[in-house]
Amino acid sequence: MRQRSDVVVVGGGIIGSSIAYRLASEGVQVTIIERDSVGNHASGYALGLLNPTNEAGKIEILNHRSFKMHKEMLDVVQEESGVDAQVLRMPHIELALDESEIPSLMSEVDRINEFDEFSSRWMEPDEIHKLEPRISKDIYGGILVEDVIMLDSYNLTLATAQAAESRGVEIVLSEATGVVYEKDRAIGVQLGNEEISCDSVVLALGPWSGTASLWTDIDIPIVPQKGEIVRVEGFNPPLGFHLHGNALGSSCSVVQKADGATWLAATSEDGRGFDMTPSLAAMETLSQRGTRIMPELESHQLVLHTACMRPVAADGEPIIGGVPGKDGLFTATGTGGKGILMGPVIGKAISDLVQHGITDLPIEEFSLERFTNQSD
Ligand SMILES: Cc1cc2nc3c(=O)[nH]c(=O)nc-3n(C[C@H](O)[C@H](O)[C@H](O)COP(=O)(O)OP(=O)(O)OC[C@H]3O[C@@H](n4cnc5c(N)ncnc54)[C@H](O)[C@@H]3O)c2cc1C
Repeated sequence: MRQRSDVVVVGGGIIGSSIAYRLASEGVQVTIIERDSVGNHASGYALGLLNPTNEAGKIEILNHRSFKMHKEMLDVVQEESGVDAQVLRMPHIELALDESEIPSLMSEVDRINEFDEFSSRWMEPDEIHKLEPRISKDIYGGILVEDVIMLDSYNLTLATAQAAESRGVEIVLSEATGVVYEKDRAIGVQLGNEEISCDSVVLALGPWSGTASLWTDIDIPIVPQKGEIVRVEGFNPPLGFHLHGNALGSSCSVVQKADGATWLAATSEDGRGFDMTPSLAAMETLSQRGTRIMPELESHQLVLHTACMRPVAADGEPIIGGVPGKDGLFTATGTGGKGILMGPVIGKAISDLVQHGITDLPIEEFSLERFTNQSD
């Protein structure tokens, strides 16, 4: 292990890896500290959907920017690492499974069409069934969005980390236990009895970010949200769309990925702490929701069932930026269900802040300071 690095990034999920990759691409020497293995948590078990069109609001611009960056970077990162991220481009159909959803879905078309890289239109049920006759007959239409990206999130995280290594990043498998300060400036990271010194520290601990509150003298209000995914046998002929709908009152994706399996995603459960055990209840609920969208799924056998934790902030928005009151200390987390999508844009934002103290990306509203200001 190097005794010194320009920047130490704690956490080897998609966020830490993307930050390290970006910094290294700009000539900065980086060490990643990861206590398990790269992509071993949510970053490795996510659905792997890159779709910036399904969320309006203040995060929308960052999501679209990140999608564009993914498109520019995917080939490069896969080539540099030799890891195949199993990238598929496919149309997304957002289904109206209840009549009451028609007006709000129809109104989404104009919002989505404002972004150059996407085109969207409303489809009546018969048009949807012409495209994919196996979709439930009990639908009220839907919107087609061309094209979203579906990939393997574990392979992408690994590819990003290994491409970062090829650019000089060192990955140390060890647990960070604290930040070392000189007055109020972060000058290193503690690994038990050892220490690595640096000019800047980036905390990218995902759902464990709250633990780092002890190291920062300021609350990082992140909690884990449990999410489960069920993979079942694929369709023959394969399903060529990412289907999504509000099935039986909850969000559900049905998609056949490059591994051949059909993925049913995902549950969202708060208040379970770090319980990462797949549950029978989640399996049943995902299977019912999936069957509501594609009735044929009823006969598909289980292939794999996974559970992991989304990092979720108190207000549901990401936290990106400097830690108030501490020089040289940054954090990036709270990406909820969008961290795979947001990796590149967060990588750039943090790299800009670390090197220049400023970024042209619109991240002001995502600072950790918004929580400290609230309690003042
Ligand atoms: C079911 C599910 C489906 C999802 N689907 C999608 C999707 O389709 N598209 C999308 O964009 N997003 C999706 N997400 C969200 C995405 O997976 C997360 O937002 C993202 O993976 C968070 O990345 P992270 O790097 O912040 O956290 P993590 O992946 O949790 O990584 C944090 C890392 O920090 C390490 N760490 C923690 N503490 C320490 C310490 N003290 N020392 C050293 N290392 C430490 C951990 O071991 C871990 O590896 C999904 C999430 C879930 C749960």
